[in-house]
Amino acid sequence: MKIILSILFIFIVSTSSLQADNKVDLINLYKELHANPELSFKEEKTSNKLANILMSLGLEVTENFGGYGVVALFRNGEGKTIMLRADMDGLPVEELTGAPYASRTKSVNQVGDEVFTMHACGHDIHMTSLIGTVINLLEKKDKWQGTLLINLQPAEEVSGGARNMIKEGIFEKFPRPDFNLAFHVSANLPAGKVGFVPGWAMANVDSMDITIKGVGGHGAYPHTTKDPIVMASQLINNLQTIVSREIAPIEAAVVTVGSIHGGTKHNVIPSEVRLQLTLRSYTDEVRNQTISTIRRMARGLAEANGLSKESYPEITLKDEYTPALFNNPELTEKVRTSFETALGKENVLKLSPVMGGEDFGMYGRVEPIIPTALFWLGAVNKKVYDTSLRENIGLPSLHSAYFLPDPEPTISTGVKAMSTAIIDLYQN
Ligand SMILES: [Zn+2]
Ligand SMILES: [Zn+2]
Repeated sequence: MKIILSILFIFIVSTSSLQADNKVDLINLYKELHANPELSFKEEKTSNKLANILMSLGLEVTENFGGYGVVALFRNGEGKTIMLRADMDGLPVEELTGAPYASRTKSVNQVGDEVFTMHACGHDIHMTSLIGTVINLLEKKDKWQGTLLINLQPAEEVSGGARNMIKEGIFEKFPRPDFNLAFHVSANLPAGKVGFVPGWAMANVDSMDITIKGVGGHGAYPHTTKDPIVMASQLINNLQTIVSREIAPIEAAVVTVGSIHGGTKHNVIPSEVRLQLTLRSYTDEVRNQTISTIRRMARGLAEANGLSKESYPEITLKDEYTPALFNNPELTEKVRTSFETALGKENVLKLSPVMGGEDFGMYGRVEPIIPTALFWLGAVNKKVYDTSLRENIGLPSLHSAYFLPDPEPTISTGVKAMSTAIIDLYQN
């Protein structure tokens, strides 16, 4: 382990011009972050630690930006401005990886319960790779000119962080970026490899609540009631036809009813049933079509069941949705070329879009549009990956209690790939 650490360390700080007090042991930093995760909007200690590191490296640091966000600048002469972003929040998951540095941290969640907390989405890898990339870019500062804008974003998992950073004025109060870049770890790509997806890469994420109202009564006298449990079942079946019969077959959409609650007892017909849905799509058109079709179906069902207007289903959509991530194709292509130079062609893979969400996409939607792209960073231990292929065993996904990145090769790959891409973007 010591040898691997020193190799990575030497690689990061390479030659000689970095001050001794600037040296950061990335693997130790990763393990500290991993063992001490904080929930969304509560990233106080994490952001403070990283702000101090960036200050010690000589960056101009602004703390508490859009919550516990950190914005840091390194001005290196005339040239483009490039934003590199990492997210900082953990998840309310009890870590079961068995790693010696596994998190046993508990935090208080939004409703006041104490919950185990884990970096189950790899944001600790994102932060460490970002710090490594900054060190590498400072080390090579005679090879590029321009401004590096570091964005350490809070609250990605609840989709408020990017919105807050934008609202607070990251694109007005600091030099406006020419490009926005980020990595996200991949739970099904081995460490040492990276992935790219030109165009739509991650989905619009909407949360919808539906309350189906009826007329409650005795379970033995159903004819005197309007049964919302039967109506909810009908609606759930109807919703399945949105993707299969309403949306064009080549478009992507998901309608999932993740929760249904109603009733208290065997022989009582309740007066309402509540549903919670997650909706996914890529384009604004498909998003709007999905939402309006659900409204139409819910209304139609109430009418078919003889309910009056006041008893039509109540539908609420969480307004602060996560918009889809669109990777600017030209930027993606440029960065892919740099990644291939840094890692070799065989380690840079074109991947398929997914229906997961990432609020990084918001930075690419602010007018005038800044070319934006997020790349996948392989994080799975090579041996674990090979065994999973050979024995056909599934790998733990992101957000799983068992998700455990292989830190050394993952971080060194992320640093090497991202530093090369950023220097190439400054140069061309
Ligand atoms: Zn996540
Ligand atoms: Zn994530």
